[in-house]
Amino acid sequence: MTEMVRKITLSRAVRIMQNLFPEEYNFYPRSWILPDEFQLFVAQVRMVKDGDPSWKPTFIVKPDSGCQGDGIYLIKDPSDIRLAGTLQSRPAVVQEYICKPLLIDKLKFDIRLYVLLKSLEPLEIYIAKDGLSRFCTEPYQEPHPRNLHHIFMHLTNYSLNIHSGNFVHSDSTSTGSKRTFSSILCRLSSKGVDIKKVWSDIISLVIKTVIALTPELRVFYQSDIPAGRPGPTCFQILGFDILLMKNLKPILLEVNANPSMRIEHEQELSPGVFENVPSLVDEEVKVAVIRDTLRLMDPFKKKRENHFPDIYMDRKHRFPPVSDRMSSLKLQLSKLSIVRSQQLGKPLASKEEPPDSDLASASAGGASPEGHLPSICLKQVFPKYAKQFNYLRLVDRMANLFIRFLGIKGTMKLGPTGFRTFIRNCKLSSGSLSMAAVDILYIDITRRWNSMTVVHQDSGMGLQAFVEAFFYLAQRKFKMLPLHEQVASLIDLCEYHLSLLDEKRLVCGRSAPSGGRPPHSGTPQEATPTAQLAEGHPPPCTNSALKLSHSRHALS
Ligand code: ADP
Repeated sequence: MTEMVRKITLSRAVRIMQNLFPEEYNFYPRSWILPDEFQLFVAQVRMVKDGDPSWKPTFIVKPDSGCQGDGIYLIKDPSDIRLAGTLQSRPAVVQEYICKPLLIDKLKFDIRLYVLLKSLEPLEIYIAKDGLSRFCTEPYQEPHPRNLHHIFMHLTNYSLNIHSGNFVHSDSTSTGSKRTFSSILCRLSSKGVDIKKVWSDIISLVIKTVIALTPELRVFYQSDIPAGRPGPTCFQILGFDILLMKNLKPILLEVNANPSMRIEHEQELSPGVFENVPSLVDEEVKVAVIRDTLRLMDPFKKKRENHFPDIYMDRKHRFPPVSDRMSSLKLQLSKLSIVRSQQLGKPLASKEEPPDSDLASASAGGASPEGHLPSICLKQVFPKYAKQFNYLRLVDRMANLFIRFLGIKGTMKLGPTGFRTFIRNCKLSSGSLSMAAVDILYIDITRRWNSMTVVHQDSGMGLQAFVEAFFYLAQRKFKMLPLHEQVASLIDLCEYHLSLLDEKRLVCGRSAPSGGRPPHSGTPQEATPTAQLAEGHPPPCTNSALKLSHSRHALS
């Protein structure tokens, strides 16, 4: 996950989606990857400027590995990029700067929203119904050469603004330099803003971003978790940083894989004397996120439910006997909340409800196994809204094909033989696409991707290179359609041929499909009939079966 949400990887993943669905993914600013796309950046900016001389853009340069505003700066022209020797060692993303953010009290602010990725397959996403709003500490002015270096005006990072003399610590959740997002929504609502729409746009942004991230995550996942075996249940709390534009459109700034869960902040009691003091706003938002996450992920829950069914049925709002570490953790958290609620003079879980629109009113568990526990802050949004978003999951389906042909367990790159097998099994070669042309396509695309600034240097074709090859093949085969329809048609075709092949293999009693794995075999939960067959019987002596058994030995 840490790898996936780095600025460059995230930009690449979103860009693939922007190519397929430009309208749906216009919540992410146009970005270029440095140093690889520096010339492209210069050329594109020049082209737009030539067409519209009144366009006076601003760009923000963000180092790939940076966080907390580290190394970020604003520029007005591509020639202002600090190329001097640093770019090769420090790759970065340069992005269109959003010049007209929504201001409150004349200050720019952003939103930190917590998102629980509960499971990758099936995809389950929960969103915390309250978040944090982090404020700048210098009144905002649109970027101008004279104010570009005013970090307290342009960057909302808490870690930077805390050092400003204007930072306001507040005991209230609706004033000061850090507030709850719900307090912002309340304020907007009182001014007549349609906050249901704002909230539902934010939920869409989160779901679409996770959909952009999941294909590559699944490639990482299958390389770590053996297929067809019960593995660990992985989950992750993500921190989404979102900016609201003046017209209330949410813009994705970045995703954090390890969002801070601190519930105290440093305060300067007297000059030079610092003390950690509880931060009411952080506690209000973060304790609820952790508590709900533990509830949803508790691996002992099912076991206890079987042992104490009456407790779970009758005493709905109470925890079961303290029989394990997870329960005791929950208890501590609940005590913390009770104490805090009493301090605030509020009942537990009486926080302001965010707006309840069709999309915004996320389910409180419903018929799910955890439906009998009160869901205080985390609301399920996927699969709840899957119907509205599933059409976007084309790259996920491409990742299924990719993973199927990876062959050897533990690898994340497709070799030339795997790529050829993919072409052959999906019946994509023809008079106009010879296998020699397929090899050239593989070499061309793989070489280019591997020469770029990538972290994993092992040879072979990675998912993003495969996606590029797939786009190329789709454009050749279905010339007249828009890109996403070309791609969807090619995926349908591939899936159709592979299902025929699998059926044929099952009838013939062979266990492993060529390419090494059955479709969707990346998850331990979904052992397909073919995978079960391979588990129960000695594998037949096909090349792919041999590969499979070798890799299992290597793993054990
Ligand atoms: P970091 O990981 O260093 O915090 P971010 O991408 O979150 O990097 O950027 C830091 C801050 O810069 C954000 O909190 C936001 O205030 C501002 N910012 C980032 N990108 C943009 C943008 N495209 N337009 C306007 N402001 C931005």
